[in-house]
Amino acid sequence: MSTPFPPLRDELRGIEPYGAPQMSHDAAPVQLNVNENPYAPSEALASSLSEAISEVALELNRYPDREFVALREQLAGYLNTSGGSGITTDMVWAANGSNEVMQQLLQAFGGPGRTALSFAPTYSMYPEYARNTLTEWVVGHREDDFGLDVDAARELVEERRPSIVLLPSPNNPTGTALPPEAVSVLCEAVGDDGLLVVDEAYGEFRRSGMPSALEMLPRHRNLVVTRTMSKAFALAGARLGYLAADPAVCDALRIVRLPYHLSATTQATASVALSYVDELLAHVDDLRVERDATVAWLREQGHEVADSDANFVLFGRFADRHAVWQGLVDRGVLIRETGPDGWLRVSVGTADEMAAFRVALMETMKTQQVIGTEERA
Ligand SMILES: *Cc1c(COP(=O)(O)O)cnc(C)c1O
Repeated sequence: MSTPFPPLRDELRGIEPYGAPQMSHDAAPVQLNVNENPYAPSEALASSLSEAISEVALELNRYPDREFVALREQLAGYLNTSGGSGITTDMVWAANGSNEVMQQLLQAFGGPGRTALSFAPTYSMYPEYARNTLTEWVVGHREDDFGLDVDAARELVEERRPSIVLLPSPNNPTGTALPPEAVSVLCEAVGDDGLLVVDEAYGEFRRSGMPSALEMLPRHRNLVVTRTMSKAFALAGARLGYLAADPAVCDALRIVRLPYHLSATTQATASVALSYVDELLAHVDDLRVERDATVAWLREQGHEVADSDANFVLFGRFADRHAVWQGLVDRGVLIRETGPDGWLRVSVGTADEMAAFRVALMETMKTQQVIGTEERA
């Protein structure tokens, strides 16, 4: 018998590449499906970017600063205004999106004979990092309200001894934040045999009063907090993710990173964006307000809605969620069919986009059914 071509690793045969369905702007003018920030860079930011890139362009014959020291220094400064304190340049690492940062963590700390663990429903990329790095994947479960039962989580950690625990806060696709007590308990359970990675891709959107896991860094040397410029900084197209951790963790990542992995143009772009932090975070505040209004409106309509600390809202539950998703698409609004069966996720857009979403959902619901409390399992 001949082997199929190309001679792919057995466990990759028949696997579909990850990715949300993409639709043209013409087919779906209101795009609320991948948690992007709806606010494009301002004219001022765009022209500062062009200037910085033109300068860099004159030196593109050279490799970039492999250590991206200037950028790490700026990122450390920003984190110290965003929930952290005492974060120094040697505690910061960055790569092309926080997905790359997390895959590097698995490359350095996972691998054959080691285990990575998370709690479902959660970000669907985590098992892919494990697969790519031949790390065993173990998944526990969240409660009905998508929170974590901390005692059960600690027991699972003690039983499976993972090298890496991946926990998003807020969680995608549910929007659920992780309380600081849970971070402490799990850091202690993981101990010196592993790392607890708190993925704060949506950290800047958390509701007021909800602390960042960055606050816990001084107390737990096995804690890693990742962030990204893809969401709050409205820079998904630039690909810049980063982390704060013990300097020894950053040193380990230097072993697995590819040579000069962060291009000179990426470094320059991220650096300029950081100098516009006030402008960018003002939009984050607008989105938080719009998020809370969306949660309240959906509840008024009688939907079940998960509490959200993110720039998206998970709501349901629908007898036929695909039909509801399709009804919205037919009205020009693209959201995401993800999460547990019956639920849908909408990213928070501008006020106009959310108005379009509300109208489209109300029209769609004229012919669709919600699963009532009495029918719940
Ligand atoms: C969007 C997202 C990221 C960020 O991805 P980038 O690679 O930085 O664009 C990370 N984690 C979760 C849970 C996300 O939803």
